[in-house]
Parts: sequence; C-alpha cells; structure tokens
Amino acid sequence: MKAEIVTIGTELLLGEIVDTNSAYLTRQLRDIGVNIYYLTTVGDNTERIADAIRTALARSDVVITTGGLGPTVDDMTRQGVALATNRELEFRPELFEQIRERFEQLGSQMSDNNRVQAFIPAGSIPITNRLGTAPCFIVETGQGSVISLPGVPREMKNILAQTVIPYLRERMGGKGIIKARVLRTAGIGESLIDTQIADLETWSNPTVGLAAHTGQTDIRITARADTEAEADALIAQAETIIRARLGSYIFGVDKTELDDALVALLRQRQLTLAVSYAGPEDDSFTRRFGHEDVVVARVHESDLRALIARLGEVSAPLDYGQIARHEARRLLDDTGAAVAIAYVTDNEGTGIAALTRDKERIRRYKFGGADVESPVWAGTWAIGMAWQLVREMDA
Ligand code: ATP
Ligand code: MG
Repeated sequence: MKAEIVTIGTELLLGEIVDTNSAYLTRQLRDIGVNIYYLTTVGDNTERIADAIRTALARSDVVITTGGLGPTVDDMTRQGVALATNRELEFRPELFEQIRERFEQLGSQMSDNNRVQAFIPAGSIPITNRLGTAPCFIVETGQGSVISLPGVPREMKNILAQTVIPYLRERMGGKGIIKARVLRTAGIGESLIDTQIADLETWSNPTVGLAAHTGQTDIRITARADTEAEADALIAQAETIIRARLGSYIFGVDKTELDDALVALLRQRQLTLAVSYAGPEDDSFTRRFGHEDVVVARVHESDLRALIARLGEVSAPLDYGQIARHEARRLLDDTGAAVAIAYVTDNEGTGIAALTRDKERIRRYKFGGADVESPVWAGTWAIGMAWQLVREMDA
C-alpha cells in the first residue's frame, strides 16, 4: 500500500510551526508496512489543498491530511477535500450533536461557527475525535481514500492509533501481523549502505528502509503476513541477503546498543580497552565507557591543544587522524590494554583512531564543531571502528 501525507496550514509554510505530524505519521505507517513516497505541505487555501489532494490520490492508495479542520474561516480542509473528490459538503446532525456534547463536557460555550465542523464531504465516514472538537472523516473514492485528521498532534496521534491504523490494516487485506527487525550497523555510512542494498529498498513486502542516527545507521526490515511464522520467513529472506552484503558491519539487532556490543565482544574475548577523548564536554562519554571490568583507562581532555602538547611528537601541519593515532598508541603502551580508542574533535576537524597491537583504523574529517552532536558522532564512529577491529582479531 502506498500512502501520502498532506499537512495543511499556512503557519507551516511560514516556518512558524514545525511539521512534526509528518514525521510521526511516516514512522507509524512504516511500522505497519505502508510505503510513503511523498510528503506535501500546503497553506490554508481551498484550491491548493484540493490540488495537492488530487495529485496525491492519483499516485497513492491513501492520502492522510492533518490540520485545517477547526471552525474558523482559515480552516479549509473540509472544502478542499470536497473539491478534490467532487463532493458537496453535507451537514451531519450526529456530528453536530457530538460537537455540542464536547462543549458541554468542557463546560464552554459553543459558537455558531462550530456548526461548520459538522459539514463533511458527502458520503464520508465520520471519525470520532475524543480529545478535541473537530470531527474527522474518511472519504472513499474510486481512486483511493482520503483521511482527514486534526492538526493538533495529541488529537492526531490518538485518532491514528484508535481508528486509522486499524482501518489501514483492514484495507491491506487482513494480513494481520506486522513484524519489524532492525539490523544495526556501524563503521559504514548510510549512503554506502544504500548503494549496497538499493534493490531491496524497492521491495514492497518485506520493506527495507534506512534510518541514520549520529554516526550509526539502522536497516529496518518490515514484513506483513497472516501469521508470525510467515512474517519471520519474509524477514529472514531479506536479512540473509543483507548479511551477505553487509554482515561485517552489523553489530546487533533491534535494541542492541553499539557500546554494549563492543563491551560484550571484549568480555567474550577477555580483552581490555583504553579510551581517550579530547573535545568539548560530552555526557555520553562516561556512560559509554563506564564498564570498569573491560575499560582499564578512560581519559578526557577538554582542550585539544593540551593533548597535543602532551604528545609532543605531532608535527605541523596538524593532522587530526595522526593526533588520535599517537594518543591511541600511547594508551596501548602505557596501559597494556589490548585495544585503544582515541578521538579528538574541535571546530577545525575530527580525528578518530582505533588500535590493537598489530592493526589500526584511522579516520579524519575536515569538520567537527563544539556542538553537542560532534563528540557523540565521533565517539560512535570510534566505537564502531574498535568493534570491527576486535571482530577481525583471531578469536
Ligand atoms: P483546531 O480545531 O485546533 O483548529 P485544526 O485541525 O484546524 O485544529 P490547525 O488549526 O491546522 O488544526 O492546527 C492546530 C494546531 O496544531 C497548530 O496551531 C499547531 O500547533 C498544531 N499543528 C498543526 N499542524 C501541525 C503539523 N503538521 N505538525 C505539528 N503541529 C501541527
Ligand atoms: Mg485550526
């Protein structure tokens, strides 16, 4: 099934509010195996809303809109959907009753313009909105369905879970079970993964998609089937192919964290780790390298120049990869650890090194930054590189 999302609201186009609804909807739909190929945002204008919906309907099975269902003149979604689906707006007394009841519960006065909310495209299926006053609806046409949800995220999420997801599942033909498995990779960038498994990313069941985090990328396999065993078989089919191509980068599945994977591997092989980081304060550093049974040394230097002065042997021009390498080498020698990780980052660059007695991996980047992301990202890369080095050591 292909779905599209059309978020409605001029504030979205002006940058006054950020479109979090699209991000939420795409994640939820992906989890039930629905493919999303387009996201559209359109302002509060009946013609343009209708246009966006028509375009979306022509190329997808389901169009989900959010926003513009309120009672005010700038809430145009009802008219836009009616126009796009060639229907009149029709007064639904039962919706009017619902709105009136909501206002009574809230103890507030219903105004005349709330009556317009009881007008929805003729023949559509009303959806109860338990958290707000705006009624929502589904219009089924020969081309597909248009589902209109409120803009307020809390209301949208509630209706999505209560009504829309069950509706979509039903439409997908009774394939009741959706199962997902996440293969977590490290030491390889998202774009490289993408080139390796581009063919799988076009599959419709199971679907295969990528999600990049800070320095680490997940490959998500989602299968839809009548039974759990069938879903597992579909997932296994994709996983086998992916592992054949990218197996050496997959450190774990589902909720496994990279630092835990490294620690587990070190424990299993009875190896120790020493780590050094030079760069801005990073809360994740101590947490990630906190396992004292394997981490025999942990050094943080907030000033990269202090590290360079201490190393003494780094020659100009500064090469961040070499700085990290020197520091990791020093750690190996001083601590007797089997594996050393060193990474450095500042506004000018980033260097990452992972060393064992006879192997090394070095990375250098001409960017870094004192922001919070860089240390986390560099640390993740460093751990991924160390994990790969250990994997390659003779067991
Ligand atoms: P209401 O009955 O509250 O007017 P509505 O369906 O008309 O609901 P909008 O008026 O379009 O929805 O939006 C209401 C509020 O919901 C916005 O002010 C904004 O805070 C939030 N909102 C709307 N669209 C989005 C979106 N795409 N992402 C995140 N928040 C949104
Ligand atoms: Mg509104």
